Amino acid sequence: MRAARFTGPGRPIEVQEVPRPVPGPGEVLVRVRAAGVCATELHFTEGLLTPARTPITPGHEVAGTVEETGADVTAWVPGDRVAVHYLHSCGDCRQCRRGRENLCSAPRGMLAFASDGGFAEFLAVPARSLARIPDALTFEQAAPVACSVTTALHAAAVADVRADDVAVVYGAGGVGSALVQVLRHRGARVAAVARSQRRRDLAGSLGAEWVLDPADGDVGAQVQRLTGGADAVFELVGTAATGRQALAALGPGGALVYVGYSAERVELNPVELVVPEQRILTSVSNTLAELELGLDLVARGVVRSVVGRVEPLDAVDEVLGALARGEVTGRAVLVP
Ligand SMILES: [Zn+2]
Ligand SMILES: [Zn+2]
Repeated sequence: MRAARFTGPGRPIEVQEVPRPVPGPGEVLVRVRAAGVCATELHFTEGLLTPARTPITPGHEVAGTVEETGADVTAWVPGDRVAVHYLHSCGDCRQCRRGRENLCSAPRGMLAFASDGGFAEFLAVPARSLARIPDALTFEQAAPVACSVTTALHAAAVADVRADDVAVVYGAGGVGSALVQVLRHRGARVAAVARSQRRRDLAGSLGAEWVLDPADGDVGAQVQRLTGGADAVFELVGTAATGRQALAALGPGGALVYVGYSAERVELNPVELVVPEQRILTSVSNTLAELELGLDLVARGVVRSVVGRVEPLDAVDEVLGALARGEVTGRAVLVP
């Protein structure tokens, strides 16, 4: 089968012929119909994240059909339309038993990080890591849900955003555009920050009440002036400069939630947080239940899965370049 292979930072991702995986006991072979391209892939090519092994097939936002089932699989049959939860949590460790599957201490695999992902014609995954795609969704719509919408659902839950809260989405790309909608669904008033006019327009059309351009001056001051200070700021960029602005946007008792990150360090003096009792939280990944919820919200039209580009697998390197230059609005999807 054909698969895009990552061999190390700074090197192009090339499509090669590799053996088709065979599903083991409890596993399902999925024929990939669509795979989303995420900033995480850029973190690999830029050397910020290192997968457990190379070469490895990237792609952790996967939708497809069940091609074949291994021994002991009863929940799925060939032809079923499925989205893959990229973190193959064990379901049995202390964290999983507490419902924190995103922090599983003994995962059976993790697409693109420890096991081969979806930039390929097929992949083998545990049967318990699959969610059914509602009929109302196309594969192209469903694939990015597995990371953007689910990650947004998890981050909004971490910050416990409630009705009438003021929430800032700092960086309105794939996760950001999903987060604007998830926060609106929770009843929050949302400000979105983006450098590009296209992304600001998109955030506005998805329900952001304020759209802010960092070029118009200090984002923290803009948020303070417009809203009186945010209850939650979601940091999806993660540079030193955006971190400072995000903190400055908080109101009393507000929470800064790190979802994105960069290679830069952030400095702070605790007193600036202590006096207004502000908090710094982090949100990583998501759970299978959040994938199921995300697919349902998109199928019901509550959240739009914004697909900006659909390209063949061979275009993977070109799509990553466009993503790095901030030229992709919503998600880019590869179809093998
Ligand atoms: Zn992703
Ligand atoms: Zn576990």
